[in-house]
Amino acid sequence: MARKIQAIRGMNDILPGQTSIWQYLEAKVADVVNSYGYDQIRFPIVETTDLFKRGVGETTDIVEKEMYTFDDRNGDSLTLRPEGTASCVRAADQAGLLFNQVQRLWYVGPMFRYERPQKGRYRQFHQIGVETFGMSSPDIDAELIILSARLWQALGLLEHVELELNTIGTAAAREAYKAALVAYLTQFKDELDEDSQRRLGTNPLRILDSKDARTQEILNDAPDLADHIDDESRQEFERLKEILTSNGIAFTVNSRLVRGLDYYGKTVFEWVTTHLGAQATVCAGGRYDGLVEQLGGKATPAVGFAMGIERLVLLLETLELIPSEAKSQTDIFIVSMGDAAELATFTLAERLRDADKGWRILRHCGGGNFKKQMKKADASGAKFTLIIGDAEIEESICQIKDMSTGEQKNCVIDAVADYLSTKEQN
Ligand code: ATP
Ligand code: MG
Repeated sequence: MARKIQAIRGMNDILPGQTSIWQYLEAKVADVVNSYGYDQIRFPIVETTDLFKRGVGETTDIVEKEMYTFDDRNGDSLTLRPEGTASCVRAADQAGLLFNQVQRLWYVGPMFRYERPQKGRYRQFHQIGVETFGMSSPDIDAELIILSARLWQALGLLEHVELELNTIGTAAAREAYKAALVAYLTQFKDELDEDSQRRLGTNPLRILDSKDARTQEILNDAPDLADHIDDESRQEFERLKEILTSNGIAFTVNSRLVRGLDYYGKTVFEWVTTHLGAQATVCAGGRYDGLVEQLGGKATPAVGFAMGIERLVLLLETLELIPSEAKSQTDIFIVSMGDAAELATFTLAERLRDADKGWRILRHCGGGNFKKQMKKADASGAKFTLIIGDAEIEESICQIKDMSTGEQKNCVIDAVADYLSTKEQN
């Protein structure tokens, strides 16, 4: 036998039993974002490597070690998108959608990062992202957070996630803070974890994110980012908190929350959960007023967030929050005996589909004896089984078996759709 070819490590198939959960989640998101007036945008999975180098930042984890980058046949360096924000900005700006305009956009799709695969962390994973442009005041930051809270509510997740907020100020404020932080941490350089030692020279803010216990201990006495925030950012942050509070959205301010991508400034936030182990963040975002200009466009304020679909699906599964209607379920199963009856099942099935009731109708294929067919009907989980044999054809009827009660009755073919829809309503 030929050797079977396996999927690439960290890149998962989403199998039939799972796709209905994904569709359920995606449909909820589409409803919620639509109710806030957001429009979907779609952009390619592959972009020039420069977009992410410039957009995400040369010293971020993503660009330093996580990108799938390759030369195409032309020798151009291309990268599988590791995130959506840079691509969204590129696409919207290229289409002239940004300058002097307000945009509320969202997207969904696969992202690629060369990370160590584990629960909740994969090499191909999927994000739903929401990005807004042209609005500089914190009411839009608040709107995005309220929108995400509505989504958690719709999914039954609101009590299982917590909002963490911070402001990381303007670029100037961060520079001043970086200098103070580096001066402090340099005294303990040898005691920091390896990544943090390296980041001291490249991206010191990221050290605040370190999971290393000794590094965190050292950080306890480090200068506080909050003490270095500029007045404008501080005021906007106060306003954001005020709007959230008046909307009943609970949050904690986490002054060590900085986010891993260079483009953020001012507001940053994460929704975290205690149910997924180390992969705790299900949704993360913030303000990135500098990015459009950094990518060659005209200065445009922007704020957005992205959530990881795999982590949300895991969370829904862990908490058993997937409603039964989210799982695809057969409504009607049709069996027959003999060639003429088989032909009649096609007509009947198409008729029922014409009724447009959203039923999932399975016609048994391939014949076989009656007992076997009824076993298939049982296994399908159908609510009703329709049976046609020679006798039924004679009279233009079929038998309807209610699978929950076992009750069986005859019904004129013309009346089957009406009969089933009345039954369904009861
Ligand atoms: P983390 O700290 O978990 O690595 P991140 O800061 O790199 O996350 P973002 O780039 O902000 O994450 O992406 C937003 C969301 O996308 C995350 O909160 C998470 O839900 C999801 N996500 C990010 N990387 C992965 C991955 N490798 N596998 C699955 N989901 C991911
Ligand atoms: Mg990451």
